[in-house]
Amino acid sequence: MSIQPITGKTKVVGILGYPVEHSKSPLMQNAGFQALGLDYCYVPFSVAPEDLSRAMEAIRALNLAGANVTIPHKEAVIPFLDEVTPEAAAMGAVNTIVNRDGRLMGYNTDGRGFLLSLMEGLGLDVKGLTIVLLGAGGAARGVGMELARAGAGRLLVANRNLDRARELAGDITRHTGCLTQALPWEEAILRDAIGAAQVLINTTPIGMHPHHEVPPVVNPEYFPTGLTVCDLIYNPIKTSLLSAAEAKNLPTLSGWGMLLYQGVIAFELWTNQKAPVEIMKKALLEAL
Ligand code: NAP
Repeated sequence: MSIQPITGKTKVVGILGYPVEHSKSPLMQNAGFQALGLDYCYVPFSVAPEDLSRAMEAIRALNLAGANVTIPHKEAVIPFLDEVTPEAAAMGAVNTIVNRDGRLMGYNTDGRGFLLSLMEGLGLDVKGLTIVLLGAGGAARGVGMELARAGAGRLLVANRNLDRARELAGDITRHTGCLTQALPWEEAILRDAIGAAQVLINTTPIGMHPHHEVPPVVNPEYFPTGLTVCDLIYNPIKTSLLSAAEAKNLPTLSGWGMLLYQGVIAFELWTNQKAPVEIMKKALLEAL
């Protein structure tokens, strides 16, 4: 495939993060732009926290078409935006910015990306299902809100810091009306919750590279027949949790699908074109 030439008209999109060197989004997004022959270019920007306000001014001054936002800026970026969608406001985090004629609009495509990967990857509709979320951090918030909005029956949020689980469970119910429960990170409680669930989602970093050779985040003996087991971790692609679930012939979902689809939604927001999902998927999986 020939390289798309950068011209005076090329629209620039970027990713603001710190660190950002590990990001696979430039490869995935540029493959998408190139496949559709779009005059866009996606570049990484390493932005230290103390430089975030100047980076946001730069988006306006340099007339970038938009940006992704990643750790540690997803929450801190909000005050610098002109508008934030109600979903992103409820999550308290933005991962995608669109520059609409100088107005910076904030979106959060993480939760919707997870939901799309669940639907596309496993054909699973979460309506009425009981779902256990392990962890109550930023990723759990995005995923939990979106699962609730999609009609999940009950969300059980288990977290080491119980206050954080209570806060997330309360926020989800307040914003969506979904039934939720906060659970302490205790073996017997996790066993009972998982035993009664149809979906289990690990949103903690337990099992992530370089600490991937650890036992599964929860004991696989607790997995009931038919449980769908998901991990938001994408490095490694198959965590010890997913391997254990596969060994029990349970359906599994790796975090790369969420990474792909959050990018697909962002691509469509920037370009107003249908994203070439298969091409972006290939580029992402090759990079991982
Ligand atoms: P975060 O905001 O720092 O939250 C981390 C969560 O994990 C917290 O609930 C924390 O509990 C819990 N936790 C951390 N270490 C733990 C341990 N040793 N034992 C029990 N609980 C532990 O992080 P995040 O942004 O939500 O990211 C979490 C994971 O999701 C990461 O692995 C990240 O790579 C992944 N992620 C994937 C995607 C994707 O596109 N696939 C997108 C975003 C994030 P406490 O509250 O008790 O500290």
